Amino acid sequence: MDIPPTGRLAPSPTGAQHVGNARTFLIAWLAVRQAGGQVLLRIEDIDSPRVKPDAAQQAIEDLRWLGLDWDEAPVVQTNRLALYENALARLREAELVYPCTCTRSDVERAASAPHAEHAGPAYPRTCVARRSADAANLDGKVFSWRFRLPVTIPEFDDRFLGKTTVDLHRDEGDFVVWKSAHAPAYQLAVVVDDALGGVTEVVRGDDLVPSTPRQLLLYDALGWTPPRFAHVPLVVGPDGRRLAKRHGDTRLATLRRQGLKAESLLGLLAWSCGWIARMRPVAACELIPLFRWETIPHHPLVLTPELLDSALRLQV
Ligand code: GLU
Ligand code: ZN
Repeated sequence: MDIPPTGRLAPSPTGAQHVGNARTFLIAWLAVRQAGGQVLLRIEDIDSPRVKPDAAQQAIEDLRWLGLDWDEAPVVQTNRLALYENALARLREAELVYPCTCTRSDVERAASAPHAEHAGPAYPRTCVARRSADAANLDGKVFSWRFRLPVTIPEFDDRFLGKTTVDLHRDEGDFVVWKSAHAPAYQLAVVVDDALGGVTEVVRGDDLVPSTPRQLLLYDALGWTPPRFAHVPLVVGPDGRRLAKRHGDTRLATLRRQGLKAESLLGLLAWSCGWIARMRPVAACELIPLFRWETIPHHPLVLTPELLDSALRLQV
């Protein structure tokens, strides 16, 4: 018999959770609960300049409102700096990372290849010859730590997308694992947390596909077994762009205040994933036996005002 999986919900308190986050959390939670596994909750609050006060508490309330639960006290990334520092030290000792003093504009200027706007140019390896001990002799300059990419980037077998490859040599290149003093990067923190938490199933939005090979490299470098990954389509507005303020207020806290019931929103989400044939109010726990990967569409969910209205109308 298979060992029950461990999954996680990992909200970032950099803003409010919206309908898109709710859909991803629901899928992640159901996948693990249906298999009789454990769910962890982690507050990803290391991106300090962007973290909003109260957003973590709000995310917890949003998840509770949806009827999603977890099995252990929440893990809060800002309390775990020592663990991330430990992992960095191991990467340094193995000479898998090097200190980089380039600023963002240095990188832009030195990069010759055209790059996708969101990804930025591949790092031109200006500092690649440094050894990790050189960090002590940088004349007090601010520096980050970059991971030296190997020639071959790992492929992975995504549970939802199938075989997936990302050309990291074009997309950022040697990636940042540590941003500046006391500031671990997401890529390292998430690997430390998932590995130490015993996470075996990562379900998240497909905007994070490019992170996965980076994280696989870190699992390998740190000698840990990686989880299985599944990346699911995001929710977009009628213009096809990722759900944002311009699409109106789809924050869960606002919808709740406007009187939307969690069961109505869950009805919309479950219907959009093909688990129920007709939109109807449904509780999260009722969906556990109905969850299936196969019926989830491979394209983003387009959230129109009419669709939200139909969820509201389920209540009357
Ligand atoms: N904190 C990220 C988010 O809210 C998720 C990161 C992850 O699942 O690895 O989008
Ligand atoms: Zn550099």
